[in-house]
Amino acid sequence: MEMKPSLIEGCGLFAAASIRARQKLGNLTGDLITQAEGRRRAKRLCRISIVELGSNKALDASKNGNQLKYINHSCAPNTFIRILGTKVEFYALRAIRQGEELTCDYGETHHEGTHPCKCGSANCRRFI
Ligand SMILES: [Zn+2]
Repeated sequence: MEMKPSLIEGCGLFAAASIRARQKLGNLTGDLITQAEGRRRAKRLCRISIVELGSNKALDASKNGNQLKYINHSCAPNTFIRILGTKVEFYALRAIRQGEELTCDYGETHHEGTHPCKCGSANCRRFI
């Protein structure tokens, strides 16, 4: 995986080699914080890299996160997140060609539907 400027937003993460469907890309790293602290921090950020884990916990990847935090949102994504306890795992949703940008459907976000989506997919929800 490699970081490059993205057509969707800022920097994105791209496949440096082809990736098999269901292949694990890695775990997102970051600081384990409470959900309340996550929401407080999210208010101050424009690029949000905080994942809510349930049980009142959240993972903040903004400072100590690895490159997986650069995966942009798309309404037609090619990766998905699985949350296991306090682990945030990324997997390929389908086979991904070399050079494709990696994207993930963030679902509910801290933007609460106010952030315009620029993913450009046919069934884009327009706001996330
Ligand atoms: Zn979209």
